[in-house]
Formats: sequence, structure tokens, C-alpha cells
Amino acid sequence: MSTATIAPETIQAFTADDFSAPDKFTQFCANGGNPLKGQIGGEEVPGSMNAVIDVINPGNKEVLARVSEMGYDEVNLAVQSGYRAYHGSWSNTSVEERAALIMKLVELFERDKEVFMACEILNGGKVSELAAGDMETVRACAEYFVGVARKTRFGDSDIMDVEAGVDAYTYVEPWGVVAGIIPWNYPVVLTAWFMIPALMAGNCILVKPSEETPLSALYFGKLAQEAGFPAGVINVLPGRGELSGKFIAEHPGVRYISFTGSPGVGQSILQAADKHGTRVKREMGGNGSAIVCADADPELVARMVGRNVNQHYGQTCCTIHRVFAERAIFDDFLEASEAFFNELKIGNQAEKGTQLGPVVNSRQPLRILEGIEFAKANGAEAILGGGHASVPGNDGFYMKPTLLKSQTGTDCNPGEVFHTFVNVQPVDSVEQAVQCANNTKYGLGSSVWTKDLELGKRIAKQFRDGTGQINCHNMGAYGIPYGGQGISGGPGGGVNCEETLHDYLQVKAIYVTDYPS
Ligand code: NAD
Repeated sequence: MSTATIAPETIQAFTADDFSAPDKFTQFCANGGNPLKGQIGGEEVPGSMNAVIDVINPGNKEVLARVSEMGYDEVNLAVQSGYRAYHGSWSNTSVEERAALIMKLVELFERDKEVFMACEILNGGKVSELAAGDMETVRACAEYFVGVARKTRFGDSDIMDVEAGVDAYTYVEPWGVVAGIIPWNYPVVLTAWFMIPALMAGNCILVKPSEETPLSALYFGKLAQEAGFPAGVINVLPGRGELSGKFIAEHPGVRYISFTGSPGVGQSILQAADKHGTRVKREMGGNGSAIVCADADPELVARMVGRNVNQHYGQTCCTIHRVFAERAIFDDFLEASEAFFNELKIGNQAEKGTQLGPVVNSRQPLRILEGIEFAKANGAEAILGGGHASVPGNDGFYMKPTLLKSQTGTDCNPGEVFHTFVNVQPVDSVEQAVQCANNTKYGLGSSVWTKDLELGKRIAKQFRDGTGQINCHNMGAYGIPYGGQGISGGPGGGVNCEETLHDYLQVKAIYVTDYPS
């Protein structure tokens, strides 16, 4: 761990470089003037519902591509294609054969990284600094899960001698056909986080990208064919959640669902899937908090917290919406936070210098405005009032940052607002801060900011969240589980750890006795 001194002014928000679409992206999106189709059993399949979704650039509402929506028939076809591939050859592949295909896919991903950057920036609305970080995760994820699969024992376990004449052992095998339902905020990362462990465990997969950001999953599907994955192993089903997503959740042939998204949708998927016994793992939204201790440098920490609050403009699952600062530094922290948020350059996400780009769609501004009104009606005072922002020459979904101050213990932002929106409260002690931070139904990620690492570690363990962080936030590492408590996650072992691969496997018990004579 480095102890180098950091000058506060060097801490900046994630920032854009100029970005323009590579020809490969433009051609892929144009698709010869036709909507992009679903990918099922190695074929491009149009949706039988004849519905087409416009995929837009939220920075200027330009239509980037048109995508055909998958209906019940296509979901059903994808499940059948998955089983055909599974029973045809995929279930007999070795870990090394699967690893070779995954690593080939990673090579192709890296060859066409600019296409994926375009998906994240132009369709997802991200700034390039953050999008470039997302690109680094794919190889790391693949290498990690190849390693986990190599040390996983598939098939029969050792035999246990239960009693005289009775042996027992376990048998570990993939579920067969599993689905990943993906949100719009980190499409490349989250598609990889589903696809790679599910395939390395030996399953055939259905990928259901968000209707807002389906392009990267469709491009992954195209590269998977080039990499040589057998037809039907990877099927991509674009469409709206309430249609294509619901059909997947309700399909009895899908044995396991990995859902990442909002708690409300996760709850409905769990209910739908439970009707036919499909297992579900869920990674859901958060309402993250940060505790700032009295020994922290208020300006430095305000900027570090601000950078994390504004990561993807607060559209990151464990983003900080609530800060509890000890009274001794409260005023200085608030003042420095105001300066940081005031400095943010609002603009088109593909233009150099932008730090606060557009939110993803027309519904998000309404949700943010409701969040602001709710907070104010429940006692919060606006230091920076948020609201619509205009960016000359760009007809996009731009919103100003919101910075609120409220009295200790006021519960004025109980939900996930999903923008650069933070409410700061003074606290009299770290114990009180922990109580306030834990007063939420969510439990994804929280942080504590202090020079005293031992104090930080004690506090981090007291968060109800799945992830506690000391002097950092929005962290993740392969080998360390990332999962939520409360309405933020579960069941399932979280992502990015050994248990993640095991989530995609079923364990059966086998007993053997001699035939009675
Ligand atoms: P969402 O829940 O609206 O949608 C997620 C996915 O579910 C989309 O593909 C959508 O089409 C689909 N869907 C919607 N309704 C469905 C239904 N009835 N049946 C089946 N599928 C359905 O979430 P979103 O707005 O796309 O993404 C933002 C949310 O995701 C936030 O809450 C964020 O915190 C959360 N998130 C969590 C993590 C994590 O790791 N915990 C990571 C990223 C995002």
C-alpha cells in the first residue's frame, strides 16, 4: 500500500477524450439498412412479434441502430438450440477446450476494442476514461475463471463409505441452459461477468441485454461465431424486459438465471422463475454510503468521494448517495464537495473534457427529479439543486449534479436515485454514522474514509453491505466476491469469485448398494 501524499486538486472526475465511431461500429449498426437480429443456434433470427427497438445515443438522441425484439417463439427456439448444442457436443468439452474458445473470444474482443468502446460511449453515454477501464476487465475476468475452472472438480467426487455395502458420492455438472439478464449501465463488463463463468462451467447460454444497450452483447455474439463456438452455445436475445426478459424468466427450460438489475425487477424474476423451480442469482441496486471520519482531510476526501459519486454520473450500482461526516470536518467537507460538483463539466460524453454526460434515457431525468423532490420534502436542504441541464448543440438527457444537506438521522433518500446525487449529514460519532449508514433496505457497497486504518477496518465490518471499503469506493477484484445484502442481492455467491463458477453448476448425490441377492 502506498503512503505517498496526494494533492487534492489532482483528484478529478472521470473525464472524456474526443471519441468518434470507428467504421466497423457504424457498419455493424447500419446492418445494410436492416434491424439487427437476435442470434440463435448460430443463425440471425428476426423477432416474430415484428417489433423493432431504436437504440439511441443519449447525448443527442441520434438513432444508432435498430434492433429486432425477441418474442416467446425466439426464446423457446433459443432454449431448444441451447439444449441441442449442450447434448450435441458442448457437454463433452474439456475445460481446456472451453478455455481455448474463451481466450480466442478475448483476442477478438481486444482486436475490436474500439467497437466496444463505441457501444459504451455512444450508446451507454460513458466518458472514455471510464469506458477504457471497462475494457480491461474482460481479459482479467477470462483469465480468472479459466483458472477457477482448472481447479474445479467436475463429475464424480471421491467415494464415501456410508455404511456396510453403501457407497455415496457427488456428481457435479453444468445446469445445461442458463440465462443472463443484463442491465444497461455496464453492458460490456456485466455481459462478460455472466458469459465467461457460465461458459467455463460448461453451460450453453442465453444473453438478454438491456433494451437500452443491446449492441455490445450482439457484437460479442458475432465474435463468438468467429471464435468458433459451436452453434447454440451462445444465443443473444435482445428485447424489452417486460417481454423478452419475462419470457426467459418464465421458460421452464432455463435451469438457472443470473440477473443483474434493479431490486423490483429482480423480485419479479425470482417469483416467475420459482414457479417452475429455476434457480436464480441476483445482483441488484444499492444506495451506498460513505462515512467521513474527523481525522480525514476534508478537501482531499471530498474530491475522492465526489469522483466516486460521479462515476458514470452516479449510474453505478454501489454509487455513494449518502455521506455521514463527523461534525468537526462537516462544514469543510460540504464546502469542498460543493466546489468539486460545481467544477464538473457537463457535456456530450464523446467530447474532450466532459465529466458529467447524459443519463441513459428519458425516464431517468424523471426519476432523478422525483428523488430531489422527495429529499426536499423530507427535510433535505439543496446546496446544489440539480435539475435539467442544457448542452448547446446536443439534444440529450443532461442533468445537473445534486448536493443536499440534512439533519442527522433524517431518512430523506431511501431509494437508489442513480445520478450524481448525494446527501450529506453531520454525525456526532462513528458509531452514529454506522447506524445511519445501515438504516437502509439496500446493502451493496459502502466506504469509510480515515487515516486510522484499524478504525476503518472495524467500521467496514459493521456495514450491512456485501462490500466494505476503506479510503476507496466502487472497488472490485477477481477472487473477491461482489454481492449484495438486503434487497441488493442474493441468493447466489456474488460475482467474481470461486463461488460464482459454482453457481453455474449443480451438485447431485449418488448412492450405490449391491443388488440384493
Ligand atoms: P432493470 O432491472 O430495469 O433491468 C435489468 C434487466 O432486466 C434488463 O435487461 C431488462 O430488460 C430486464 N427486465 C426488466 N423487466 C423484466 C422482467 N419483468 N422480466 C425479466 N427481465 C426484465 O435495471 P436497469 O435499469 O437496466 O439497470 C440499473 C439497475 O441495475 C440499478 O438498480 C443498478 O444498481 C443495478 N445494477 C446492479 C449491479 C450489481 O452488480 N449489483 C451492477 C449493475 C447494475
